[in-house]
Amino acid sequence: MSPSDSKEGKKWIERYPHRRFNPLLREWVLVAPHRTERPWQGRVEEVRTPSEGAYDPSCYLCPGNARAGGTRNPNYDSTFVFDNDFAALLPESPEFSCDGAGLLQARSERGICRVVCFSPRHDLTIPRMNDVELRNTTGILARQYRELESHSWIRNVQMFENRGNLVGASNPHPHCQIWASESVPNTPAREGAAFAAHQDGRHTCLLCDYLRIEAEKAERIVCENEGFVTLVPYWAIWPFETMVLARRHVNAFVDLDDDERALLGDILRRTTIRYDNLFQTAFPYSMGFHQRPTDGAQHPEWHLHAHYYPPLLRSATVQKFMVGYEQLAMPQRDITPENAAARLRELPEIHYLDRL
Ligand SMILES: [Zn+2]
Ligand SMILES: [Zn+2]
Ligand SMILES: [Zn+2]
Repeated sequence: MSPSDSKEGKKWIERYPHRRFNPLLREWVLVAPHRTERPWQGRVEEVRTPSEGAYDPSCYLCPGNARAGGTRNPNYDSTFVFDNDFAALLPESPEFSCDGAGLLQARSERGICRVVCFSPRHDLTIPRMNDVELRNTTGILARQYRELESHSWIRNVQMFENRGNLVGASNPHPHCQIWASESVPNTPAREGAAFAAHQDGRHTCLLCDYLRIEAEKAERIVCENEGFVTLVPYWAIWPFETMVLARRHVNAFVDLDDDERALLGDILRRTTIRYDNLFQTAFPYSMGFHQRPTDGAQHPEWHLHAHYYPPLLRSATVQKFMVGYEQLAMPQRDITPENAAARLRELPEIHYLDRL
């Protein structure tokens, strides 16, 4: 009898975060059974305009307000980080594993989940932040990576931001999340394998080589500064998907110097201003950074980059759905990446709300 059939195994599976193996796709699914009490303020955004005020008394992320877990936020005046009250991963969960004939595999998964409020202002999104606010945010993310990396059992630090109802953001107050986990999740693991294979075969970096080609062709570049380039990848899936690449071959956030952290803030702002200007709306997206795992190895093959996955297709209300053929077979798109890049490139870099 496998441990999953034991009383103890059943108890763990019902109570603690774990990952389960999908033997058809040979990848893992994270299960967080303790997380059903999570607060939800995402809907609120639908009935409000983007410039609704700097403070919202009902927001659990605003300074001085009580969070859903009962803790009260300090009266923070800059970027604020706290441990997620409804974390998908927990640092202290018991270690267990089950294997039912190789088809019912599960492993316990520990982790640390944090929330980063970009600023005390409820209405201040990345595209409208100033240099100081952006520099604070990228500086905090670098420090978070460094601190989480110091836990020997943390092997990956995933930073991501969901903006807007369409991508399931649970609160409109601008913030991102950090999920640091005991294992390297599917996507970073797959990208890591691609970096390593390219490095082994050609002795060069996959994304350094790719950036060189894109710089020559210049047809998919959206905007750039001395430190970073935003482009629509040749293989983009979402209509206005972009990737932000560091010009210098750096493996992680912690390798960026002060100037590069400021340049990163600049490119994130310029990219998201273009997004907001595209349909004159608070453009929804899911974005996140990919960087070397924190498993103790050097990983010189890794190249720091960010992905933006926005769901909108033709207007502020027409979205692309990943269903049917996309879900069952493979992604497909209609507007070409070159066309999407040209449309984003031609947009002004002054936010539409600041032009009014
Ligand atoms: Zn707020
Ligand atoms: Zn590189
Ligand atoms: Zn990536």
